[in-house]
Amino acid sequence: MEKREGLVFVVSAPSGTGKTTLVERLVREVPHLVESRSYTSRAQRQGEHDGVDYNFISREAFEQMIARDEFLEWADVFGNYYGTRASDTAALQASGVDVVLVIDVQGERQVRARGVPMVGIFVMPPSFEVLEHRLRGRSKDSEDAMRRRLQTARDEVAGYTDYDYVVVNDDLEPAVDRLRAIVLAERSRRSVMAPVAHAIMRTFGITQA
Ligand code: 5GP
Repeated sequence: MEKREGLVFVVSAPSGTGKTTLVERLVREVPHLVESRSYTSRAQRQGEHDGVDYNFISREAFEQMIARDEFLEWADVFGNYYGTRASDTAALQASGVDVVLVIDVQGERQVRARGVPMVGIFVMPPSFEVLEHRLRGRSKDSEDAMRRRLQTARDEVAGYTDYDYVVVNDDLEPAVDRLRAIVLAERSRRSVMAPVAHAIMRTFGITQA
């Protein structure tokens, strides 16, 4: 197959929806698909590794990168900076792999506004009650912080209309199946497959499409 520029998939979901697990499974199962590593100024959590989960940097370093216009997109989420460096994504795309950005809705809007061709996938919890239950089960947040998270989730869910696809994460396996189906369908678009189709046409002695 001829090498093509990688596609960009943007995955967003309110926190507690299980998107990290979903995307980990997706990139493990689909060849030539990688997750972009974001930069963040938030503190490293136990079990996280610098350069693996995120590139952990100081607020000052992050602000310098903003000033140098290095970010494809960035946002302030719960008081911490998060961003995707444009040159990281571009390098991955140029190497021919498709890239998944797991970013929030503010980030998705910026990528779209920049005119970068992208496929937006919004992951939803099955209901508000399920999300609240999941969040309360895993979190050591204060009641105040929990309310803020839940309010943010409400605002984010309302933004699903900006996306091309919606996946409900009720059960892990069917949700991974759907994500995989979306990636494979997007890879099969005529516009994406045109170079391959042309190469095949040439074997038929047809030189123009
Ligand atoms: P966490 O701190 O739990 O890892 O992530 C908090 C939120 O930040 C999540 O909603 C996640 O999607 C979002 N996020 C992570 N990386 C980025 C990024 O590079 N850009 C944007 N806009 N959001 C991000």
